[in-house]
Amino acid sequence: MLNLAVLLEDTARTHPDRVATVLGGFRSTYAELDAAADRVAAGLAAHGIGPGDRVALSCPNLPFFPVVYYGILKAGAVVVPLNVLLNEREAAYHLRDADAKAYFCFEGTPELPMGERGRAAFAQAPDCELFVLITADPTAPAPEGETTLAGFGRDPEPGARSHPASESDTAVVLYTSGTTGEPKGAELTHSNLVLNALICNRLFDMRPGDVHLVTLPLFHSFGQTVQMNAGLATGATLVLLPRFDPDAALSLMEHERVTFFAGVPTMYWALLNHPGADDHDLAAIAATLRGAVSGGSSLPVEVLHGFEARFDVPILEGYGLSETSPVATFNHMDRPRKPGSIGQPVWGIEVEIRREDGAAADPDEPGEVCVRGSNIMKGYLGRPDATAEAVDDRGWFRTGDIGVADTDGYLYIVDRKKDMIIRGGYNVYPRELEEVLLTHPDVSLAAVIGVPAEGIGEEVKAFVIRRAGAATTADELVDWSREHMAVYKYPRIVEFVDALPMTATGKILKRELT
Ligand code: AMP
Repeated sequence: MLNLAVLLEDTARTHPDRVATVLGGFRSTYAELDAAADRVAAGLAAHGIGPGDRVALSCPNLPFFPVVYYGILKAGAVVVPLNVLLNEREAAYHLRDADAKAYFCFEGTPELPMGERGRAAFAQAPDCELFVLITADPTAPAPEGETTLAGFGRDPEPGARSHPASESDTAVVLYTSGTTGEPKGAELTHSNLVLNALICNRLFDMRPGDVHLVTLPLFHSFGQTVQMNAGLATGATLVLLPRFDPDAALSLMEHERVTFFAGVPTMYWALLNHPGADDHDLAAIAATLRGAVSGGSSLPVEVLHGFEARFDVPILEGYGLSETSPVATFNHMDRPRKPGSIGQPVWGIEVEIRREDGAAADPDEPGEVCVRGSNIMKGYLGRPDATAEAVDDRGWFRTGDIGVADTDGYLYIVDRKKDMIIRGGYNVYPRELEEVLLTHPDVSLAAVIGVPAEGIGEEVKAFVIRRAGAATTADELVDWSREHMAVYKYPRIVEFVDALPMTATGKILKRELT
């Protein structure tokens, strides 16, 4: 029976003394991680929480995350990981929407008072029965009337190895990133998630001695499957970096001898543009790093080439969504890699590009990316209508992304359906324009959106971060764009900014740009 908890239990049996998680000077072995998760499971069982119950978890990338995540799974319950940046109103919405029975929440820091917010959210979710505070110091006394994670755990019954869920049961409910519409909880089953983790093992040739730098948030599907679940399934060591910072990332790569890095394009961009990169032993990093993967949004070809030239490691780009567990396509290690492409469908997964009328598009013709296979969610929790709209009766999931396939079957994401700009009746794909803008020597980062315009519906506007010391003016960049892009699409408006709004997972929040 496929069960996510078994991924950890198996490794804890075969590699009990191997280091599973690292945070600064803290190291936990597989045996310790598994035992700590057993204690959480026994605590949940003692509170009558078990199969089918949903349990929310707000925790940054700390060793507590996998302890609680796997503890919930071992109890047969369902994990609902929440974005650590949610405010109290948003967290309360998620607790109620998921009908969570219990809520594990990290106490936070003075800058990010997660505990305070979590308590307030819990108070607004009357059906949530239990609040467990995760304290940074496990020996810290519990605040008056509260339970801490350390106080919550129980010794399991001798011989108890209970993970009573079946493979078609929901294991995790992932609220989708929130760059689109109202947050919905994608119900992912044990079989969705186990198979996707094993697919990653195979795709990236993961081995027991691997050391992952884990800075993608574990509450999001990318880090959760590709690093935590896939890494723990192979006996890898997860070196945790709760908040991405290029300097800290390079230091850890160097000193922990990191072999595998997964990041979103903004992280690669930051590593590439980090002025202090040369203070690190980049040759030593390159000598141990054997895998670097990117996903979550499109990796500009300029960034890919720049990073590879500097760090001497090929970046494999892939694609997926929370609803697809998430991995759907990837550039494979053992096949030619095509820069700018999200690669080919991964093992056992089908991808079709469809026209508006549902017919399959021809090669090189843009259409909606549709996915079918073992990775497709069961549905959106409590939303049968949204589920029926997203997944058809033959199991095809409509991603809302626009892509093209070339004649070799390599896929390219052109844009999101909703991000497409229609200017004077012509479809303009911001992604394409952003790539062109990045080839300008003074442009460091660009985000293109449509703004309402009389007569033509929408006008194309580019937000640009200039390179340090660059003096190009907005008018000059518009003129340059006119020379480098078709007349119907080049941006007529350019605005320089110092930073672009990002989600916690590094996607540019275009809806906040106007
Ligand atoms: P999420 O559910 O937060 O993982 O977001 C999924 C969305 O991220 C997809 O629908 C795409 O729009 C976007 N995405 C993921 N990977 C890529 C990629 N390699 N290139 C372009 N967009 C991507």
